Amino acid sequence: MLTHLSPIHIEKYIQEVENVPSEKQIRIGVLALQGAFIEHCHSLYRVGAKPVEVRTAEDLDGLHGICLPGGESTVMAKLLVQNNMLDKLACLINKGLPVFATCAGLILLSKEIIGFENQPRLNCLDIAVNRNAFGRQIDSFVEEMEMLAPKHSYLNEEHKKVVFPAVFIRAPQVASVGDNVEILSKREERILAVQQKSIVAVAFHPELTENMLFHTWLYEEAKHYKEIIK
Ligand code: GLN
Repeated sequence: MLTHLSPIHIEKYIQEVENVPSEKQIRIGVLALQGAFIEHCHSLYRVGAKPVEVRTAEDLDGLHGICLPGGESTVMAKLLVQNNMLDKLACLINKGLPVFATCAGLILLSKEIIGFENQPRLNCLDIAVNRNAFGRQIDSFVEEMEMLAPKHSYLNEEHKKVVFPAVFIRAPQVASVGDNVEILSKREERILAVQQKSIVAVAFHPELTENMLFHTWLYEEAKHYKEIIK
């Protein structure tokens, strides 16, 4: 179930995307200041998107979507501030840039980080989070979890039920959500995945699995976003 594509296998997907003329590419930024960003880049290539590693404020220009990876949210937040990216990124997201965030990325997006009120954050997703709600690195685990798939923000559709292989690594937990936030997944009363229009954030790590549900969702949202900002 865990994905470790051989270099040859992933190379095929990379070539396919890189052969698309640049004006036709769906450009999805992957915040690459720290953390597990390579895995997201590979997943994005697999679904046909062009991943763009984002390290500076200028790298945020011309994107159709963005992925916020797992890692260490305190370090990412510090670097976002240092590189003058925090406000620009928040502004783009508030204007509708589609986002898929995992783990530390979910923490970065949130309005409230319980017990870490001074930690800089994007303040775009109306949730309060608890960091490290599942213990330390050594307590990591994988579980087949029933959940709702994210739906397209631009379609009037229902969420589909799915079973998803969830990888937990020092995962946060969503403690509460605002009225405009839908809960996609709960485990023993803990909220683990949410959607607020074109923002989807999960406490686990889909980029470490073969299941492309979330990256496909982001690709399609980004495709739509590219059309409407033309
Ligand atoms: N616990 C980390 C944090 O607070 C997140 C862990 C992860 O992204 N795997 O930033």
